[in-house]
Amino acid sequence: MFHIPERTCIACRLKGPKKQFFKIVRNKEQQVLFDEYGKIDGRSVYLCKKFKCIDRALHTKKGDPMQHHLKVKLAKEQKEEIFQQLEGLLEKE
Ligand SMILES: [Zn+2]
Repeated sequence: MFHIPERTCIACRLKGPKKQFFKIVRNKEQQVLFDEYGKIDGRSVYLCKKFKCIDRALHTKKGDPMQHHLKVKLAKEQKEEIFQQLEGLLEKE
């Protein structure tokens, strides 16, 4: 049986194939980036391509999933930058 590796959304814990998620990576320089092509090395997290998950990952004040999973401190401006970038990529319904 061919096994498809599953990824888990850090906001809602939904599992699924890689292409279903946005991949966010923290690279060696401690930058947190949206990894569009899956080419950046570093610690990575996945988020559903849904507003509610992006919002939860970046706008939760207590137990912030993004910072927790990437083990990095993000300034408010950095979070906003990532949030807006991802939000801009969502398919409008
Ligand atoms: Zn999700």
